[in-house]
Amino acid sequence: MSQATSRHRATAEPRTSEPRTSEPRTAAPLTVAVIGSGPSGFYAASSLLEQSEVPVQVHMYERLATPWGLVRSGVAPDHPKIKSVSGVYSEIAAHENFRFFGNVHIGRDVTREELVARYDAVLYAIGTQSDRRLGIPGEDLPGSVSAVDFVGWYNGHPDYAAHAFDLVGDRAIVIGAGNVALDVARILCSPHERLARTDIADHALSTLRESTITEVMVVGRRGAAQGAFTTAELRELPEFTESGVDVDPAEVAPQPGEDALPRPTRRNLAVLRGYAEQPTAAGQRHITLRFQRTPVEIRGDGRVEEVVFARNALEVDEQGWVSAVDTGERETVPASLVLRAVGYRGVAFSGLPFDERHGVIPNDRGRVEGTEREYVAGWIKRGPTGIIGTNRKCAAETVTRLFADLADGSLRRHDRGVTFDHDVEIVSWLLERQPHLVTESGWQLIDSAERAAGAASGRPRVKLVLTDELLDIALKRQSATPR
Ligand code: NAP
Repeated sequence: MSQATSRHRATAEPRTSEPRTSEPRTAAPLTVAVIGSGPSGFYAASSLLEQSEVPVQVHMYERLATPWGLVRSGVAPDHPKIKSVSGVYSEIAAHENFRFFGNVHIGRDVTREELVARYDAVLYAIGTQSDRRLGIPGEDLPGSVSAVDFVGWYNGHPDYAAHAFDLVGDRAIVIGAGNVALDVARILCSPHERLARTDIADHALSTLRESTITEVMVVGRRGAAQGAFTTAELRELPEFTESGVDVDPAEVAPQPGEDALPRPTRRNLAVLRGYAEQPTAAGQRHITLRFQRTPVEIRGDGRVEEVVFARNALEVDEQGWVSAVDTGERETVPASLVLRAVGYRGVAFSGLPFDERHGVIPNDRGRVEGTEREYVAGWIKRGPTGIIGTNRKCAAETVTRLFADLADGSLRRHDRGVTFDHDVEIVSWLLERQPHLVTESGWQLIDSAERAAGAASGRPRVKLVLTDELLDIALKRQSATPR
């Protein structure tokens, strides 16, 4: 597509919803760049656009050609209800003061400083793009991988499309007792027909069809009561396996003082005890949950063959925090695949201050420390915790802070004069830097193509995973091959 054509399209998109602010249209809007199009970015955009004090123009920047962040590439494909929150994001994107700019890489196509010079405020909702490591011998052996990579791969994230996962052998071990661990365990155990009805990436579907894995062992370092799972995710597991969930009754035996545990913990324990009462059949696909084990070494001749675990005792400190303490006992479990699902980790971004210890951008209620017009929301602000909805409150706090700063003068608008057409200036600047700019209309073309391909096979969508394929559709390029 020529630059002229794309500029025309980028500036002439249809607007489908009424403005939600009550501001007179003559007032120059506050211009805010939101960097990142995942849940926290959309909730920040929504908070900015919903308030009625100040007219705001939101420009959302995204490195990929597609929006929705972890809702597209993190939420498991067999969780369509969770994914349906994207409908809310589409409504936000339809606001007349909202623009989407995809396929723009901050630091390559434009710099952070250039954004700060062009917008009254820049709000980073960039998530936590890396994963935590175990720091043990053998972690880098072939067959030992990060759940972050595996999740990106089965969800069709372009960065992970070229990864190859060898699903051979009988047993996979997942390290970590959180919801990501359960996601990958479910995907590895699910019957093929079930996955084939989802929007899982086609390359993952083919590889999983050939998988010989029958047991996925999920291992937590602390006790069953300290698992980070949510009850709904724990409770649904048997639906996704051939023969249920194996829990050792001794690991979930009732302990004194349990009545004082938080209700979600008691609910989790009840579910786990239910599993402990049901036998699982060897040879059929099942999930095993094991606790009080820390991996200390991954071994194998050229690839993963076994994991050595330290058996842990639990110690409670004066504040009630439960720690895992190595008893010195060792246990070796054969496995051909090890997935570490021990949490995401933020990475430093374009010269912004960064707290290495916690993997977040240091901030005060969302305002980035030491900056004049920069803000953060979501996981890069508070760390990788909580469910999708948690980001709504987090983003609202940041937007409240932004307007408080505006009100007390600590956030000062750029002086631009009322005739300055910010939208036009920005689009023409972006097209100079990134001729393959994907706007909301380009994303709509991708969305329609994917949904149409899915409808033909009874799936919500068939994801396009290569950036070039996505751009072909978004920019209506000659090589586009509708599927
Ligand atoms: P998470 O909830 O923080 O769980 C990480 C797990 O890894 C914990 O069990 C933790 O144990 C363990 N761990 C950390 N370091 C370890 C180490 N060195 N060795 C062994 N174990 C270690 O992280 P997550 O599973 O990545 O999930 C991130 C967030 O996304 C969570 O808030 C989660 O609820 C959310 N999420 C939600 C859904 C859903 O709603 N369906 C799906 C996926 C993710 P300790 O507790 O002992 O530290």
